[in-house]
Amino acid sequence: MVAKSAQTFEVKNPSTGVVLTELPVFGPDQVQAEVTRARAAGRSWAEKTVAQRCAALWPVTQAIARRTDELVETIHQENGKVGMDALSLDVGASLLVMNYFLENAPRILADEPIRLATARHRASYLTYRPKGLIGIITPWNFPFFMPAADVSMALIAGSAVVLKPSEVTPLSALLLKKCYDEAGVDPDLFRVVTGLGPTGAALIEAQPDHLVFTGAVATGRRVGVACAERLIPYTLELGGKAPAVVLEDADLDRASNAIVWGGFANSGQICASVERVYAVEPVYEALVQKVTDATQKLSVGEKGEVGSLTWPRQREIVEALVADAKQKGARVMVGGHRTGDPAGLYYSPTVLADCDHSMEVMKAEIFGPVVPMMKVKDAEEALRLANDSHLGLAGYLFTKDKEQARHFAERLEVGSVMVNDVLSCAGVPEMPWGGIKHSGLGVVRSDRGLKELSHARHINMDRVPPLERDPYWYPYTPPRQKRIRAALKRLFDDSLGGKLLRKLLA
Ligand code: NAD
Repeated sequence: MVAKSAQTFEVKNPSTGVVLTELPVFGPDQVQAEVTRARAAGRSWAEKTVAQRCAALWPVTQAIARRTDELVETIHQENGKVGMDALSLDVGASLLVMNYFLENAPRILADEPIRLATARHRASYLTYRPKGLIGIITPWNFPFFMPAADVSMALIAGSAVVLKPSEVTPLSALLLKKCYDEAGVDPDLFRVVTGLGPTGAALIEAQPDHLVFTGAVATGRRVGVACAERLIPYTLELGGKAPAVVLEDADLDRASNAIVWGGFANSGQICASVERVYAVEPVYEALVQKVTDATQKLSVGEKGEVGSLTWPRQREIVEALVADAKQKGARVMVGGHRTGDPAGLYYSPTVLADCDHSMEVMKAEIFGPVVPMMKVKDAEEALRLANDSHLGLAGYLFTKDKEQARHFAERLEVGSVMVNDVLSCAGVPEMPWGGIKHSGLGVVRSDRGLKELSHARHINMDRVPPLERDPYWYPYTPPRQKRIRAALKRLFDDSLGGKLLRKLLA
């Protein structure tokens, strides 16, 4: 995406190549002004109770629900995904996230007592306080869900928000803003700044109190450095390379259906997409056949089940990865070429068999409709290969043996594992979503995610009338030091009394 001029950029429909609109590029001064404006509105918002904030935000869900058709069309137009993906994975998932947090935030953010063993005469608790101003930067693959989920959680946590949506798909975020305005939320509390990468960088320079970034690993690294320089706390949700491991006792029908949906929904442009399959030798050929058959049945196109890719660079990446795999011996079972309206960025859903780790397609994030499959000797080889990645976001396992599933899942180096299921871990509100390795830092959604958007402040009070001074305060007289030394020795000696005292203090 290139700015048309210094002041504007174009938004295109990737299914047709038609230019949809031109939008302003916010420069650093404009971004700073929006941050200042939102921060000011955030002061009275932070004074409200969590329940009051939730009550004020409920009407937004109704505004979104009322505009479902318009939203689905806008998401489809600017992203290229088909209507069903826009409906369930963007609009539906956003409403479920909002519903969960609007209902549960007062419980999640309630004060939390801390059990004190070493200082029983005092009482401690955590209180979750608003951070102030949260900056949110989002990618193009979920043009509505990412902004809707992150913005609602930041507001519920009591902060004001400035959102910088992807320059590839900003229209859905602008429609989200319309829903907030329509619902009567203070229009200054949540602001949207449009533009390219430098607008995102300007948002960080404007010194938000927390930054939530979702996007590519390389950009995430730059964002992390920029935040660290300014001591801004940040959350990074980056790329994925989810393995799907299929063991001998798996239900192959469920596994193949899951792999096909998990690989091709949203045209494979999901950080949690099935990006590589490892199947043990006894079921490998049968699984390849089932995945191929199911893929052959998919319809591609504006009114089909698989939409277009979202921007030209993505199709170039997909084509390069498939070419490399073919050249190194992968069998193309289905797809492997462009398809559909030549004006659109369509790529045929592709299954590659007989892949191995010499091929880039098994290592780099594909972010497109390609499922590479590899035969492995056993579960241990699958685990070793699945963990042979710099990314660690999601992983999937297919087996009927729950004990085996647990043993395998706990050794898989990813943030979320689903057994006999795919993708939903990235969107179900109660599930913590976050990567390890280069897939990110921190979690979004889930009770933990909401708490990450708050300051957990510790308050400590006296439970009993306090003494004039505690034994370790001034004055540091020799008798006092002697008493403390004797007490420590007593506490950590081998006697029964020492053991009991230690238990009492832990
Ligand atoms: P991207 O990193 O190119 O862009 C993401 C956002 O960052 C855009 O809004 C962009 O304008 C902005 N940006 C670019 N340079 C910036 C800078 N220097 N400072 C601040 N902001 C800057 O990513 P993308 O291509 O839009 O998205 C695809 C990637 O996102 C994939 O790798 C995918 O796996 C990842 N992703 C991860 C998750 C997750 O939850 N982990 C979810 C969706 C997408």
